[in-house]
Amino acid sequence: MIVVMSPSATQADVTAVRKTIEAHGLEAFVSVGQERTVVGVVGTDIERVANIASLAGVEQVIRVTQPYKLASVEHHRERTRVVAGGVPIGQGSELVAIAGPCSVESREMVLDTARWVRHEGARMLRGGAFKPRTSPYTFQGLGRPALEMLAEARAETGLPVVSEVVDTAELEDMERHVDVLQVGSRNMHNFVLLRAVGRSSRPVLLKRGFGATIEEWLMAAEYVLSSGNSDVILCERGIRTFETATRNTLDLSAVPLLRRHTHLPIAVDPSHGTGQRDLVTPMALAAAAAGADALLIEVHPDPPNARSDGPQSLDFAEFGALMDELRRLQFVRNGAAAGNGTAPASDGAGSEAQPPGAPIRQLRGRIDDLDQRIATLLQERAAVALEVQEVRGLDRHGHDVARERELLEHAARASTGPLEPEELTAIFGAILRASRSAQRRRSEAHVRARHEE
Ligand code: PEP
Ligand code: MN
Repeated sequence: MIVVMSPSATQADVTAVRKTIEAHGLEAFVSVGQERTVVGVVGTDIERVANIASLAGVEQVIRVTQPYKLASVEHHRERTRVVAGGVPIGQGSELVAIAGPCSVESREMVLDTARWVRHEGARMLRGGAFKPRTSPYTFQGLGRPALEMLAEARAETGLPVVSEVVDTAELEDMERHVDVLQVGSRNMHNFVLLRAVGRSSRPVLLKRGFGATIEEWLMAAEYVLSSGNSDVILCERGIRTFETATRNTLDLSAVPLLRRHTHLPIAVDPSHGTGQRDLVTPMALAAAAAGADALLIEVHPDPPNARSDGPQSLDFAEFGALMDELRRLQFVRNGAAAGNGTAPASDGAGSEAQPPGAPIRQLRGRIDDLDQRIATLLQERAAVALEVQEVRGLDRHGHDVARERELLEHAARASTGPLEPEELTAIFGAILRASRSAQRRRSEAHVRARHEE
């Protein structure tokens, strides 16, 4: 902390500042300049002299360290990895999709949704049992019975469960039924609740208050951390701004900024962040690109009839398409229904839960053969691309932008079948990128060999 004295401050003012600092067990370094004097304050718990700004002759007090300690990268240089119900989030692990309904409405709907989202590659299930609604007249959640339903969905699908805790009185019950305790946006400043989840052995998903600055949010995390729970995941879910076209303004710049200031894993909730289902997928992809460790996505079997947050909930097909996009962009590598190590052996995925009959086995056998042939053809294609490069000269990568464009257009038009032209273009785009990488490696090897000669 640096205390800047005003040009008119007297020697007695400076002495009073120095003595106040020292009286709190901190060190004061006085530096007298031509125009003004500044006093550096060093020591732990500098906040104790935060009131020094009101002493005579003090112009301003500048804080040079962050008020949060345990959440700060200075305290913990490595990023943290939180393991939630067996699923790692943060340092070194791939993006985790957490999906499910805003609120649990019935046993069937939560089971159906859990099976579906797991089948599509989600690694955790979300679902509200206790809903902190803005209006006391809207659906408040099913409460305790919903916790049982969530636990049943977890037992069947193996997906760990995230659910919101709104009251310390429910904490023990929640701990028995869910894997991650969510603290909602409306409770980010509820310091009693933050301390209570801080004493829990369950990881905490801490949503950003919709009127909270990043610093206030990190201070809320500090409450949990300093109460003994080091497993905190931050969740950006949009803030209130003057904009009314979206439910909230999703602050995605918070993601890289948080990565600079804190080691804690970061989740993004584009459902509450936008309030509109058609904005959820683009903002989820943008969040992944910005560096989010997890996404929290509301999914409902029948959004128009949802009891809460239908307008921002994806239906099953939309969630499947989002997961495909995340895989295409390589934010997620696990295949659909890849499981997470905690899943039971059976697929648990709805109609396919039964052992496949002979016709399905045969069809799958044909798919395996086709995949083998595709892989062989792809290798052959890449080998020919290297031959082209050889002929053009190994110093060059050998790819020709105009030719590539032509190829993509041709691929999109060329064949008929269930794939859309854009899907074919995306596949050929990936083939071209891989060919180019092979050419680049070949050319680098050639240049290296020449240097070594
Ligand atoms: C929720 O995720 O169910 C929720 C209520 O979100 P928020 O606290 O961000 O409004
Ligand atoms: Mn909701």
